[in-house]
Amino acid sequence: MPNVTTTSAPRLIALLLDEHDDAQQLVRHAGDVLDMAQPCAREVHAICVTRTPNPELAERLQRLPLGALVCIVAADLREPVQATDFTSVLQRALETHALHSTDFVCAPASALGEEVVARLAATFDGCAFGRVQHVLFDANGAQADRAVFGGRSTVRVHGESGPWFAALRTSRTGSALAAPAEPSALEWREASSGPHDDTEIVMVPGDAARMPVETARVVVSGGRGMQGSEGFALLAQLAARFDAALGGSLPAVDAGWVPVTHQVGQSGKFVSPSVYLAVGISGTPQHLAGVSATTRIVAINNDADADIFRVAEVGIVADWDTFIPALIARVDACRSARANAS
Ligand SMILES: Cc1cc2nc3c(=O)[nH]c(=O)nc-3n(C[C@H](O)[C@H](O)[C@H](O)COP(=O)(O)OP(=O)(O)OC[C@H]3O[C@@H](n4cnc5c(N)ncnc54)[C@H](O)[C@@H]3O)c2cc1C
Repeated sequence: MPNVTTTSAPRLIALLLDEHDDAQQLVRHAGDVLDMAQPCAREVHAICVTRTPNPELAERLQRLPLGALVCIVAADLREPVQATDFTSVLQRALETHALHSTDFVCAPASALGEEVVARLAATFDGCAFGRVQHVLFDANGAQADRAVFGGRSTVRVHGESGPWFAALRTSRTGSALAAPAEPSALEWREASSGPHDDTEIVMVPGDAARMPVETARVVVSGGRGMQGSEGFALLAQLAARFDAALGGSLPAVDAGWVPVTHQVGQSGKFVSPSVYLAVGISGTPQHLAGVSATTRIVAINNDADADIFRVAEVGIVADWDTFIPALIARVDACRSARANAS
């Protein structure tokens, strides 16, 4: 087990994992950690891991008042991203950072971030808080609020001694921190995520209707606009092609088209996939409360004024019953063309 020092000035360490090639989201996460530090006057460090050097991201991070900024380039991170790769890079980085028992380490609240901090907590014999929203520090240690039972209730978790590890849910708005007079000091490093054990993680295509939405990398979700279980059967076919989980809005659950365990939203599950495909969903705040700020939303809706298009990165104005069968046919045609070519 790596060494952990017992006494030192408390620090917050933001782990920035380049999962989606999304500089804005990583800068926002660092900003949220800085916001959290302000009331308790903790110093904030950021450790950023990318596959290729990203000077634009580094330059944006330098405009934040960080105590230290380390940008690590690990060219051998595997595709699709694997938590073990990021963990091995970060373990070595935190060792050279001399982790203290009063440090709080947090990653973005994606499925990847949650797994990475859990693995690091085990490695450093720290205290794992899981996925939390706010963290408070006092003389008795650290405490945080954590949603349970699919967001229906909240529990307060408390750890007397750190280092503490958490996947921190970021705000959609971002913080308005004053830039420092001088850019924050930046250190570039190169690292390897290997050696890789190719048998360690085997990707097995899942059954979309059974795959949990909370940990899926892609979620295909339907709303009231799907108009019945036939529409959901079509969504399940699409989900199977992307190895995605099937989700639904509250009205779709109430109508019995999708199980309650797959409900996304304020009173359902919180999801943080790379891509969230919302079909026949209007995009109410109660629904979007269940979708991470880090997720890319793709929306299909026949109403060009639907609110979902305000938050979608890709919006398609169409009836699902013409668009989804055409999309499935296109995916199948591309796959068989690729198979014939190889
Ligand atoms: C306390 C509370 C908690 C709640 N919790 C949740 C929650 O956890 N999750 C949740 O989802 N909701 C929740 N709700 C309900 C929420 O307020 C909305 O009622 C709900 O999100 C709307 O779901 P929807 O988008 O599927 O339906 P609608 O708002 O009815 O939208 C249906 C959409 O489908 C589109 N459409 C229709 N036909 C087609 C077609 N042929 N092709 C393409 N598009 C089509 C329409 O244009 C429309 O935009 C909660 C409400 C409250 C008060």
